[in-house]
Amino acid sequence: MKEFELIKHFFTEQAVKRKDVLLGIGDDCAVVSCTENQDIVVTTDTLVAGVHFPLGTTAKAIGHKAVAVNLSDIAAMGAKPSWISLAITLPEVNDDWLTEFCSGAFELCEYYNVQLIGGDTTQGPLSITITAQGLTPEGKYLSRSGAKSGDWLYVTGELGDAALALQHYKEPVLTSESIIKQVQERLDYPKPRVLAGQVLREYASATIDISDGLLADLGHLCQASNVGANVVLDAIPLSAAMNESQLFDDAINFALNGGDDYELLFTVSEDNKVGMETALSQMGAKITCIGQMNASQTISTTLNNKPVPISNDGFQHFSLNKR
Ligand code: ADP
Ligand code: MG
Repeated sequence: MKEFELIKHFFTEQAVKRKDVLLGIGDDCAVVSCTENQDIVVTTDTLVAGVHFPLGTTAKAIGHKAVAVNLSDIAAMGAKPSWISLAITLPEVNDDWLTEFCSGAFELCEYYNVQLIGGDTTQGPLSITITAQGLTPEGKYLSRSGAKSGDWLYVTGELGDAALALQHYKEPVLTSESIIKQVQERLDYPKPRVLAGQVLREYASATIDISDGLLADLGHLCQASNVGANVVLDAIPLSAAMNESQLFDDAINFALNGGDDYELLFTVSEDNKVGMETALSQMGAKITCIGQMNASQTISTTLNNKPVPISNDGFQHFSLNKR
């Protein structure tokens, strides 16, 4: 199959056809119409085989993840995703692989009414770059930089499962098939918190999505906002699978330092706390208060109400099997 046939066959046919796309795939550029009183947020993320996903990952999961990590960034800005473009580098043209890849990618696009409007197709080692755009009411986007001392720190969902799955892939630590399946699902099919992000627009002072681990991304939020934070380790939400895995203190390590969670980390003022909790619980989103911002410019942690020092190499002292 030649490049143009491939593009037509796999990428042009899609269920989502937005009215604001004046020209989609097929010309030198796509053309979208801008809506008055709206801002456009733009993000790009690349997934390289063997770096951002294990080499054995299914094509469907790769398609899903490539879209999901971008929509997670859009969610962190409080925006509604609208369009994506896809630059894909393929080692070979494999129809079955591409069909599965597209099913994973388009499923998420259809769910959020996002249209693929263009891209580029080249040959080489497998790599996928997606650029995503989203819309917010003018001046209403969220960012990393609005947190104030005294604001409460929250996280959506549960942390650490994807890191546990990755650890198990590198060096098996799990024996229960059911737990392996559950954490693998979290690694392969992250759920971008798109609707929660839009609700948070009304309440949050700062937001970031957790892609590199809670501590690393909290560090980015603190730096951008010029504040510090205390994290209550006992409060960190762990999944049933993580708790069942009986990895004990290692679980906290996965939650603090593991990547690939794609949950939202956000801060809320005392005044907005109740409103935010009500709005998010009404939409069925799980959220947990895991600490509070302060003026220290550093991140501290407590366990059982006692301070726990953070060493340079993270939370190694929590680790049961010394890595
Ligand atoms: P050009 O050479 O002008 O950049 P291309 O030949 O690369 O155009 O692509 C032809 C059309 O197909 C363009 O509209 C481009 O956006 C689209 N396209 C190419 N690859 C992809 C892809 N992987 N996904 C979506 N659209 C694609
Ligand atoms: Mg080209």
